[in-house]
Amino acid sequence: MTDAIRALSCALQQQGFPPARVTPNAPMRTLTTFHIGGPADLLCDAVSPDEVRCALLSAHRFSVPVTVIGNGSNLLVRDGGIRGLVLRLTASAQSPLVLSEDSRSVWLRCYAGISLAALSAFACQLGLSGMAELSGIPGTLGGGVIMNAGAYGAELSGIVRSVRALRMTDVSPCVFEGDALGFGYRRSAMACADVLVTEADLCLPRGDAEQIRARMRELAAARREKQPLDLPSAGSAFKRPAGGFAARMIDECGLRGTCVGGAQVSEKHAGFIVNRGGASAADVLRLMALVRGRVAERFGVTLEPEIRILGEDA
Ligand SMILES: Cc1cc2nc3c(=O)[nH]c(=O)nc-3n(C[C@H](O)[C@H](O)[C@H](O)COP(=O)(O)OP(=O)(O)OC[C@H]3O[C@@H](n4cnc5c(N)ncnc54)[C@H](O)[C@@H]3O)c2cc1C
Repeated sequence: MTDAIRALSCALQQQGFPPARVTPNAPMRTLTTFHIGGPADLLCDAVSPDEVRCALLSAHRFSVPVTVIGNGSNLLVRDGGIRGLVLRLTASAQSPLVLSEDSRSVWLRCYAGISLAALSAFACQLGLSGMAELSGIPGTLGGGVIMNAGAYGAELSGIVRSVRALRMTDVSPCVFEGDALGFGYRRSAMACADVLVTEADLCLPRGDAEQIRARMRELAAARREKQPLDLPSAGSAFKRPAGGFAARMIDECGLRGTCVGGAQVSEKHAGFIVNRGGASAADVLRLMALVRGRVAERFGVTLEPEIRILGEDA
């Protein structure tokens, strides 16, 4: 452990982070849904916007680089792990705050570390629609906002009205609203702006709680039927290319089931790469390169990874 990491670890605990939420040498494979990745020098779990700001300021004081993550459900961490601080925004006991409401909709302010599943359950309890389609995405609100996560015809862009963030460079606050949110297919202005998303304001239309619950159940069943949820993955490996579907192209190249080491193009859904057990990041990267090469050869299309790749080679 370097002196800066040791000093940062002590400073975080002096500022009130419980020792259980400040972990040196944290294996990233335990923090990602892919179950892959070398160690982070230091992991800190933050459960509120204040804690996020405090951790970020401390990292700046000791000149330690920061990587922010949510639930690690869209990540491939390389086998050498991540140098510096990994700041994980994670579930808090805090419920979303009701900012205002009228007969048609309710405005909520939510911590970026809340899971989309918990947020959907909260919205459903209040009889609010707009989240049901997103309820099965296994990430946090912050990670979802960055990626403009979406499913079954809905995207976070449909309900997010503003985003509060901290600039990574100097920890100063900033707000994104309206066109400045820059949402597009699996992209946002925040992803390009070197910021850490701390909170988002959502506007959710009123609906019928029973119907919303039924829709969530129906979509959860559809996911179980189509997706390889029994094996670790990071969701769709590639973005949807213009005018086509990555999974279909991969399938038509005969790549379903293809393996490199422990990584495999899912037998169940060719758009997913799964970890069959013991896959390294190098295995996944080699398999992704093979898939991209074959699809480019056959269709003249360059697939763009949807998975975010972080960290150092072993
Ligand atoms: C089985 C499975 C199914 C999936 N289905 C879908 C789906 O239907 N639709 C879909 O869109 N995605 C899907 N995904 C992918 C993934 O769940 C989403 O992209 C999700 O939004 C990622 O959120 P996260 O909290 O896990 O982010 P992470 O994976 O932790 O991080 C993703 C990126 O966002 C950045 N980031 C995270 N939090 C913040 C923050 N607060 N501020 C700034 N940057 C941040 C990270 O640095 C990283 O670059 C699926 C994944 C799996 C494993």
